[in-house]
Amino acid sequence: MGIPAFQLSGDAAVLTKTQRLTALLDFCPNLPDLAVLDYLQDRMMHGSPDEPVLHLLTGILQEKLARFLQNELGMDADTPVHRLSTQDLASLAETVKGYRLTVTGTKSFKDAQVTRGGVPADELVEGTLESSKVPNLWFAGELLNVDGACGGYNLHFAWGSGILAAKEIAQRAENI
Ligand SMILES: Cc1cc2nc3c(=O)[nH]c(=O)nc-3n(C[C@H](O)[C@H](O)[C@H](O)COP(=O)(O)OP(=O)(O)OC[C@H]3O[C@@H](n4cnc5c(N)ncnc54)[C@H](O)[C@@H]3O)c2cc1C
Repeated sequence: MGIPAFQLSGDAAVLTKTQRLTALLDFCPNLPDLAVLDYLQDRMMHGSPDEPVLHLLTGILQEKLARFLQNELGMDADTPVHRLSTQDLASLAETVKGYRLTVTGTKSFKDAQVTRGGVPADELVEGTLESSKVPNLWFAGELLNVDGACGGYNLHFAWGSGILAAKEIAQRAENI
């Protein structure tokens, strides 16, 4: 959950200011909805009727997550499988494929890994990192309104733009 939440948080920070946001989490994106239900029915039919409901999700979801989802549905993960109704099973499959979360906002600046906002790229002299408003002022990294996905892109941009700005400054100094 960590990285996907990070990826969405930039947009969430902006969108939650003006609208109610819901995230729909699919914990089995590679399986169609009915395949999850088939899988659960199959486990139920071929397993022991006394095994705990939790075991139905073993192998497809991490145990803590399986317990959490079953708890959300008002199911006790430790009750025997034979107590589940057809409707319970369908609800479980539905929740695995589409658990709804209300997004209320993001954590504070103190917890942020990257900021959204800063000097707009169109306020730079084209093809350089120099301000078009204040000559001899260069920007790099997070001072610019540029943010990237997780995966090293923000560090890469910070280093790349820092090197570029430094080269431009050195070149300007040489020409003085
Ligand atoms: C916990 C965490 C984890 C991260 N993990 C990743 C990751 O895995 N991959 C990735 O790509 N990005 C990651 N990032 C984001 C990445 O680190 C930043 O995008 C990048 O460091 C921005 O570089 P920067 O030079 O623009 O700013 P900064 O790295 O913030 O550098 C700004 C510098 O300016 C100094 N400074 C501030 N005010 C003044 C002042 N008035 N005078 C002099 N100096 C001043 C600060 O002390 C700081 O050293 C992470 C960020 C955090 C916080």
